[in-house]
Amino acid sequence: MTERKVRVRFAPSPTGALHIGGVRTALYNYLFARQHGGDLIFRIEDTDSNRFVPGAEEYILESFKWLGIPFDEGVSFGGEHGPYRQSERREIYKKYVQVLLDAGKAYIAFDTPEELDAKRAEIANFQYDASTRMQMRNSLTLPKEEVDALIAEGRQYVVRFKIEPDEDVHVNDLIRGEVVINSSILDDKVLYKSADELPTYHLANIVDDHLMEVSHVIRGEEWLPSAPLHVLLYRAFGWEDTMPAFAHLPLLLKPEGNGKLSKRDGDRLGFPVFPLEWHDPKTGEVSSGYRESGYLPEAVINFLALLGWNPGNDQELMSMDELIKLFNLSHCSKSGAKFDYKKGVWFNHEYILQKSDGELAKLFKPVLRENGIDPDAYSDAFLTAAVSLVKGRVNFVKELWEQARFFFVAPLRYAEKDVKKRWSEDTPRIMTELIEVLRGIEDFSSKPSEDIVIGWIAEKGYHMGNVMNAFRLAVVGECKGPHMFDITALLGKEETLARIQRAIDVLK
Ligand code: GLU
Repeated sequence: MTERKVRVRFAPSPTGALHIGGVRTALYNYLFARQHGGDLIFRIEDTDSNRFVPGAEEYILESFKWLGIPFDEGVSFGGEHGPYRQSERREIYKKYVQVLLDAGKAYIAFDTPEELDAKRAEIANFQYDASTRMQMRNSLTLPKEEVDALIAEGRQYVVRFKIEPDEDVHVNDLIRGEVVINSSILDDKVLYKSADELPTYHLANIVDDHLMEVSHVIRGEEWLPSAPLHVLLYRAFGWEDTMPAFAHLPLLLKPEGNGKLSKRDGDRLGFPVFPLEWHDPKTGEVSSGYRESGYLPEAVINFLALLGWNPGNDQELMSMDELIKLFNLSHCSKSGAKFDYKKGVWFNHEYILQKSDGELAKLFKPVLRENGIDPDAYSDAFLTAAVSLVKGRVNFVKELWEQARFFFVAPLRYAEKDVKKRWSEDTPRIMTELIEVLRGIEDFSSKPSEDIVIGWIAEKGYHMGNVMNAFRLAVVGECKGPHMFDITALLGKEETLARIQRAIDVLK
């Protein structure tokens, strides 16, 4: 057998915002496709019209654009296997439903919801399968003429998959190994509904994976229970030879590890579970997104990549290119992955540090604007230097403001507890002296200023900590921040002196 080209797909249903678990699924598919020089397909599974949510498809596409995950073909990308939106493939599915009917591998069932309810009341744990199907109203029990007549008169029906009982079904999963279940536990799944002339998820999914020449199905663990049915469908169509390999990814668990991650966990602990902010068109509810919360897409990617996979060592920081090289389905875990959102914050911090100061300064500009500062009033050199002095202290770009605001606004008030501790009776006198010392410094850059001021403090026998902290309090407004002489070098002599004078006047 010749090697098949790797073709994988991400196939969301447009039922709302894309959950972060879905993002991870898409990411793993992307890494796998790139690593093998294969294709990544974007398919929209919208055969359940009741659950369709307007805007969801656009939202999903925008999410991947932001994250830097491009698709090779599919909805909005084009390709030779389209259309890629299942609602546009009705005729294709109808044909394949007919194939199964003709082969006697599926049958038509007329049972109404009321009739099904009655059966459920009559038989405990009723399941529509080999043990019960001959008691029901379907093309196996009704004469052909009656079936034809019912269809002709427009009666609603469904097509069910005729599952042979008592057969072991083997699913070979690249992560979980061989999973075997007995076909008797499966029910005769509905594959098609005449009411909307649409197939159900199961049929459309298999037909499309086959026609789109999908080689590997990499998806969330919640689809593992459907896999035996999917194997049986491939067999019923005679497509065993090109059946894709399966890989069911581990669940994302609550940060505490007990149970599946849900949106409520995010609300409870204050982290987003969606890539982008989502405005629910039905309820009007707004849910936070990673983008709007200030995460860098690279950080989100790196964080998600490690939720259920590791490179086999303890390396944590990996670029997309490295992930593509290192990713391996056999290193995916079977057990669920705790959603350690604090780790996500850590990744963001690390990726901020990886950015050049110039890039960070650019990202900082809108934050300045939000805080009433016109960034264009400052040189790029000034912004870059300010950012470089404080970036080590932030996890998010917007936190740069908190750390760097004193570069843009002179303190009007001074932190009370610092004043109590650092501003004593003779401080104004010493600060007045300091003004004179600073005024005399010709080269106001960091190191020369530092040498002169430290020398002066020593010569006078002043207390180093007290003088330096009062100095800092006057310039910054509180006793924290980066190296004092880096601050004054950036602010310049005039501004530094003015700030000290103001502190003397205000604090006395
Ligand atoms: N439409 C399914 C979903 O929303 C796709 C499952 C699969 O990948 O087979 O996740």
